[in-house]
Amino acid sequence: MLCLAGLQGGFAFWDMIPFMKGILTTAILCAFKKVYWEGSHMAHFENKLIKKFQQLLLILLLFIYIYGCAPALEEKQFQPPETVLSDNPCLYSESVGARSQGYLYKQDNTQWYYYINGDNNNESLPANWRNWWYVYLNGVPVDREISFTVYNGGWPLYYMPVYSYDEVNWYRLDESEVSELEGYTWHILKKFEKPAVWLARFYPYSTNDLNKYLTKIKSNVNVRLSAIGKTRQNHPICMITITDFTNPDVNKKRVWIHARTHPGETPPSFLLEGLIDYLLANTTDSKTALSKLIFTIVPMQNVDGVMAGNYRSNTDGDNLEVMWYYDPYNPSQIDAGSPLEVVALHETIQRLISSGPQFTIALNLHSANTSANRHAFFITHFGPTTRGYSDMESSLWRKQVKFMNNVAYYYGAQFIEPPARDGGRDFLNREYPEKWWWASQKDSVMAITMETTYGRAGNRHNWITPQDLYELGIATAKAIVDYNNSLK
Ligand SMILES: [Zn+2]
Repeated sequence: MLCLAGLQGGFAFWDMIPFMKGILTTAILCAFKKVYWEGSHMAHFENKLIKKFQQLLLILLLFIYIYGCAPALEEKQFQPPETVLSDNPCLYSESVGARSQGYLYKQDNTQWYYYINGDNNNESLPANWRNWWYVYLNGVPVDREISFTVYNGGWPLYYMPVYSYDEVNWYRLDESEVSELEGYTWHILKKFEKPAVWLARFYPYSTNDLNKYLTKIKSNVNVRLSAIGKTRQNHPICMITITDFTNPDVNKKRVWIHARTHPGETPPSFLLEGLIDYLLANTTDSKTALSKLIFTIVPMQNVDGVMAGNYRSNTDGDNLEVMWYYDPYNPSQIDAGSPLEVVALHETIQRLISSGPQFTIALNLHSANTSANRHAFFITHFGPTTRGYSDMESSLWRKQVKFMNNVAYYYGAQFIEPPARDGGRDFLNREYPEKWWWASQKDSVMAITMETTYGRAGNRHNWITPQDLYELGIATAKAIVDYNNSLK
């Protein structure tokens, strides 16, 4: 009984400590019983050698018990301190990020299958929310081709995945290695060079990548980082302010840019690095630009979604892009029930509108699923007065076209889709940020969504690379500067 009580006591007392600790408790109590309890009733027991051995065993067991258990207890109670760098309020503690959810099956080393699941493993989300995947294959043979099949994609459009052996250097697969099968299914047949392979729908850009970039720029005299809010998962939403801080704000104009509302759309992150590097290059042009402009950039609105490996939504399944719920009679007020990521952006914009200087541009960066040969494009609003739009509506449309033409001028007109003749009013049908900007600032802010693409839209009509997107970012920065210079 005493032994059993010891076993039970071991579990009760140590709660969730592994089974071996209970066994050890039992062994100690059993040894105690043998040496002292039974010993007291067996006064005639004369074999002192055995008794000494039992005492030694007891001491040994106590030694193992104390030193064997102590580290486990320490491990259980230890809470690592949150990593904080005081000079970077945007640092993300998550070390992985961007890996997709879904199911990976290995039939044998040469036959692999991946089933794309909905964001947050929610099967009930719309099919076209399933497009991002990012997986790790371990044990890939290097002496023969492997077959990797991706099921349950949400889009029928052909694309070219990427692969890596170290998650740093990424390469495009070749069109001869990727085929699209029936039923939104892709099949990859390739001989890899190393047994550890990462495969992804497109070049990943995680919170780790953002950390690295922010660490690189945070000490620049023209940069200030701030956290403008926290997500549901308590991660900071970062804002980068870039200007010449020695020049008074009063004569400047302000530019707003945000990206990664849709977490799986990684191309805008590469674009932003090009845009920001251009502004911080300390050239005559960049110094002039920063003396006149303040860039306020949120590089990753949907941090939680990025960390979760989602394509479209945050960890609540919210598509933040259409959740700018505001009072139509007073757009300065955002609905209390709006997602935290929308509230953070809205409150920041509202605060900056109140403090000045005036915003002139609001860029909303995305990446669209398109046919492989489509280039980057813009979603314009309204159209010319000749098509029935008011003067103010037409003014916004003309400003958008002017900006688009600036980007095309610097990036290459053949690599930007031409503007629609009539952008229409569709954007007013859902709660997009551009609808909010229109309600709040009318045509004084050229608010527009820019859609990069994933296909053969590179500078040389190759499958687009991060470098192509980086260069598109430089062109976008120059277009922003020119646009502002052209304003009265
Ligand atoms: Zn998007």
